[in-house]
Amino acid sequence: MNDPLPDFTLEHPQTVDAALALLRDAPGARICAGGTDLIVNMRRGLVEAQTLVDISRIASLKIVEETADGLRIGAGVSLRELAESPAIAATYTALSQAARVVAGPTHREAATLGGNLCLDTRCFYYNQSHWWRKSNDFCLKYRGDICHVAPKGNRCRAAFCGDLAPALMVLGGVVDIAGPGGIRQLAVDALYREDGAEYLTIDKDEILLAVTLPPSDAPSGYEKIRVRRAIDFPLAGVAVACAREDNGARAFRMAITGTNSRPVRVEMEAALGPDDDPDAYFATLGKLVQKTVSPQRTTTIAPHYRRLSVAAVAVRLARGLL
Ligand SMILES: Cc1cc2nc3c(=O)[nH]c(=O)nc-3n(C[C@H](O)[C@H](O)[C@H](O)COP(=O)(O)OP(=O)(O)OC[C@H]3O[C@@H](n4cnc5c(N)ncnc54)[C@H](O)[C@@H]3O)c2cc1C
Ligand code: SF4
Repeated sequence: MNDPLPDFTLEHPQTVDAALALLRDAPGARICAGGTDLIVNMRRGLVEAQTLVDISRIASLKIVEETADGLRIGAGVSLRELAESPAIAATYTALSQAARVVAGPTHREAATLGGNLCLDTRCFYYNQSHWWRKSNDFCLKYRGDICHVAPKGNRCRAAFCGDLAPALMVLGGVVDIAGPGGIRQLAVDALYREDGAEYLTIDKDEILLAVTLPPSDAPSGYEKIRVRRAIDFPLAGVAVACAREDNGARAFRMAITGTNSRPVRVEMEAALGPDDDPDAYFATLGKLVQKTVSPQRTTTIAPHYRRLSVAAVAVRLARGLL
């Protein structure tokens, strides 16, 4: 059964300052970029917004430019542009590969970098129609009192499923955020917290402006596990970058999406040294991935399967970068 889209006022600011003023003053204001996550959630009654602040006409958010700190990509750049850019594919391969596997081609045309970083967390008991959720007495994330996934817990376990965040994390991405207090910067890691209901550390009256990626010569990649090979959100997605150190050792950076309420970093203690046994190293890495992730019953696919398969994909991807 389809729920109707509720009424709202649509504003089209042309500058970041005008958008910030609307977020401050307009009743029930919410940023809309490509709308591919937000509008679906509004229709399902998961988001209440009286005013949508459409930021797609703000030209400064669509700029990709080389700066002294690296490549600065505006939050309004579409996923299609990210996926098709030869420069991004050559230097920041993980980002290019992640953008290519988000949703389908029509979504990627409208969907933006900023929207992908801020998209809502997902759960089988949450991404349902209003009547379905009502018949289950709703849940902790929205309107209800208990979590159907972890009834004894006191927080929502919905999974963050954005494909781009782990890629940007291993590439050292830093976000610029504009808000009532001016502009501040955060590492992409620091955008998130492990809470499915309060998963972002930025406020609703702030706008993510851009992500800057430092120069890099480390090969990188992204791979995701999903039920179908198109459209689907990741059951788990892995990004890896592999830097060569002066002594010939390989230092891996790895981050994972789809398994926790935030994208998680896999904290490796040591690089793979030139005299180390790669089989032993990657066996340890696989176990570390299994320990790091925390998949829950938020999809129809069993958590144990997701834990084992994400470890296998992580090891395969890391080995492929040697
Ligand atoms: C069928 C389907 C399949 C999908 N599959 C995938 C998938 O495989 N992988 C995946 O990652 N996503 C997937 N998505 C989700 C979505 O399409 C993408 O994540 C997309 O990148 C969201 O970007 P958007 O610009 O459309 O965001 P919007 O829907 O416009 O916004 C999403 C959220 O981010 C906030 N926001 C947007 N821009 C900013 C900004 N600059 N600053 C602060 N807040 C902001 C909005 O207020 C909203 O809360 C899918 C969606 C659908 C409908
Ligand atoms: S994890 Fe629990 S609280 Fe969160 S959306 Fe799912 S059922 Fe609701």
